Amino acid sequence: MREHTVTGGWPDDVDKVITCIDCGGRAHLLGFWTDEDPPGPGDIVAYRCQDCRDRWDLVVPEAPENSDDTN
Ligand SMILES: [Zn+2]
Repeated sequence: MREHTVTGGWPDDVDKVITCIDCGGRAHLLGFWTDEDPPGPGDIVAYRCQDCRDRWDLVVPEAPENSDDTN
């Protein structure tokens, strides 16, 4: 049996490994984020490419559920 419980842990928008925009290699998340203390909207997450050693800083987007300011 497989439980599929979402407990507001790691956000879907934040991947732990992304594809490097420059070289297409694997860029790994830097920093001290854990499943217990994950990055939230507005936080900056940094990635380091293992191939070209470039660093990528991304801002975590706002959660799409918080769209209550519809005009
Ligand atoms: Zn790269």
